[in-house]
Amino acid sequence: MFRPKDNLERLNKSAIRMCMPRIPVDKVLHAMKALIYLDREWIPQNDGATLYLRPTMIASEPGLGLRPASEYTFFIIKSPVGAYYAEGVNPVKIYVEDRYVRAVEGGVGEAKTGGNYAASVKALTEAQDKGYSQVLWLDAREHKYVEEVGTSNAFILIGDELITPPLGGTILPGITRDSVIQLAKDWSLNIKERPIDIAEIMEASENGTLKEIFSTGTAAVISPIGELCYQDKIIIINEGKTGKLAKRFYDELLALQHGTLEDTHNWLVRVG
Ligand SMILES: *Cc1c(COP(=O)(O)O)cnc(C)c1O
Repeated sequence: MFRPKDNLERLNKSAIRMCMPRIPVDKVLHAMKALIYLDREWIPQNDGATLYLRPTMIASEPGLGLRPASEYTFFIIKSPVGAYYAEGVNPVKIYVEDRYVRAVEGGVGEAKTGGNYAASVKALTEAQDKGYSQVLWLDAREHKYVEEVGTSNAFILIGDELITPPLGGTILPGITRDSVIQLAKDWSLNIKERPIDIAEIMEASENGTLKEIFSTGTAAVISPIGELCYQDKIIIINEGKTGKLAKRFYDELLALQHGTLEDTHNWLVRVG
C-alpha cells in the first residue's frame, strides 16, 4: 500500500469538516490489510495495474432532518484497475474555467467529499464538449489564481521555479502533491508553494519561460498538460509533449510504488 495512513488521516480531516465521525486509523489500516489479503487474487499482476482502494463513509440513518446523522456506514471499495496510461503517458488538453468555481474560502474545498465533485461536473462536461479533457479551476473571488486541475493538484514549471498553489482551504491536500513536493526537495529543486496568477502563465508562455505544467493525483500519479485554452487564447506547452520533469516524477513515484527503488520516506506499507 502507498501512504495509506496519510490517506486515512486525511479522511478523518474531511470527516471532521462534514460533521461525520472519525475512524480509528490503526484499526482501519489493519482491517484493510486483512481485506486485501482475503481478496489477493484480485490484485492485478500486469505492469502498471493496481488494486485501487477507496475508503468511503456515508450517512445511513433514514430521516429527513438537516443535522449530522446518528448513524454512518464506513466501507472500503476495492477494484482492480488497468494501467492508467495503457498507451504511454500522453499530455492532455485543459480548459481554463473562468466562470464556474470549484470551491470558495470557508467552504468544503479542502475536504474530500462528494459535493465537491457534484459541483464540478457541469464545467467538466462543457469543457469536454469543446474538446478538452479537464478544466483548470481558478479561485472563486478573483477568477485569476490557479487552484486545481479537475480533481488533481497543479504544478507549473517556469524557468527553474516549480510552483504549486498553497493549501489555503479551497484546495484538496493531495497525497501525490505532497509526495512530489518532498521529492522536489530531495532533488534540491526550486519548489515554491505560492499563489500563481493565470496571467503569469500566459505571459511565461509568450516569453518562452513556461516549461511544463502537470497535475498530480493517486489514479494517474502525474498527468502532463500539453495545451491550455484561456478565454480565447490557446497555448501549447513543451510542444505538446511530456516534459522531462513530469516524466522524472512519474518514473520515480512508480518505481517507489512498485518497490524497485529504496523507500527512504517510509511511504510503503506491507500487506502480508
Ligand atoms: C483526490 C483529489 C486530489 C488528489 O489527491 P491525491 O491524494 O493525490 O489523490 C486533488 N484534488 C481533488 C479535488 C481531489 O479530489
